[in-house]
Amino acid sequence: MTIWRPYQQMKNLKVPYKVIDAEGVYLFTEDARLIDSISSWWCMIHGYKHPVLSEAIKRQVDLFSHVMLAGLSHQPVEDLADKLETWLPGDLNYSFFSDSGSVAVEVALKMALQFYVNQGIFHRKKVLSLKHAYHGDTFRTMEVGDDEDYHYILKFCGSGFDCIHIPTEISALEEAFALYGEELNSFIVEPLLQGAGGMRMYDVAFLKRARELCDAYGVLLIFDEVATGFGRTGNRFVADLVLPDILCLGKALTGGYIGHAATVANEKVYRAFYDSDPQKALMHGPTFMGNPLACAVALKSIEVFENENYLKKIARIEQITRRAFEGFHDDRVREVRIMGGCVCIEVKDPENIDGYREFAYRRGVYSRPFLNYLYAMVPYVIGEGDLCQILDCMKAWFMR
Ligand SMILES: *Cc1c(COP(=O)(O)O)cnc(C)c1O
Repeated sequence: MTIWRPYQQMKNLKVPYKVIDAEGVYLFTEDARLIDSISSWWCMIHGYKHPVLSEAIKRQVDLFSHVMLAGLSHQPVEDLADKLETWLPGDLNYSFFSDSGSVAVEVALKMALQFYVNQGIFHRKKVLSLKHAYHGDTFRTMEVGDDEDYHYILKFCGSGFDCIHIPTEISALEEAFALYGEELNSFIVEPLLQGAGGMRMYDVAFLKRARELCDAYGVLLIFDEVATGFGRTGNRFVADLVLPDILCLGKALTGGYIGHAATVANEKVYRAFYDSDPQKALMHGPTFMGNPLACAVALKSIEVFENENYLKKIARIEQITRRAFEGFHDDRVREVRIMGGCVCIEVKDPENIDGYREFAYRRGVYSRPFLNYLYAMVPYVIGEGDLCQILDCMKAWFMR
């Protein structure tokens, strides 16, 4: 048996831990119980086997698991679209569903370009994005991303796509708009928290200035909240603080139960496509868009998030985490960053965290550090004891 694993030189593959059951914050293997400190790539916000979510998806399986969304419709997708329309801030009212975060970002980038093309404006081909950005693994998302691990293959794909990457500094932002403002169709960001680029955190003032400049130059602002959405930064959405024109959701959208994503556009963007000319339609249609299982469970996930005051849970996680790292320092550590339900220890040398995965395993914690980053993004339902076990484990690594 060979399963081609993600982001992995298969020749050096460490044997993955084989999960046989999962419940709450716990993963069970044949011989261990592990607290999942990273919520299965940040998506399992309610933990595993949540009774309400499991019930919702089971009920939908008994009705029908899938129907296509062209020519057909169904209650779960209509209810989810309605829910997002009322729940999301401002006039982010038009949801385009797809099956993964990468595709949601592709759709957003396509929308932004065609927004101008549909109005007869053809020169706005450039996209502004951030240094250390991560927006997915498909080609266009790799290009707007700035992940060193992708540079190797991107160099060979011969793309002439014009993307400008800037640091999260207001001066760089102003300079980029002064230079390229008239040629940009969009500015895409992971707002406040850049995930896969190393859990980098920055100030909301940067986003407020970005909104002003986008308005001044007529550039669309895209928030890729695939990772930050649904509470991770301590805000419900960063879009609650600064309103984008297009919002991408994924990962926690379904409470991690099944892959699904949404690209949500505002009125202005939607209007640029609304026409009797078929050429002006949005030419995209993933086979599994609006999948009924995904929509049914996403609806329940949002309901639980609202009814059980998750923002309070997340604030508590942040508070406990800050307390745990008070006074912590070590020569190998460059910085400890904390925001909402995310904590990251950035070390000076990747070798400083070599072996941490196994160390954590022996202490009942599942972790997957990468490059210089040892981090936790816990399920929001975690109890204080389990959370402290994760944080103690992170600190204990440096006290050996
Ligand atoms: C994970 C992620 C994506 C890609 O989502 P997939 O579902 O893995 O395709 C895009 N953007 C951000 C910010 C992400 O964290």
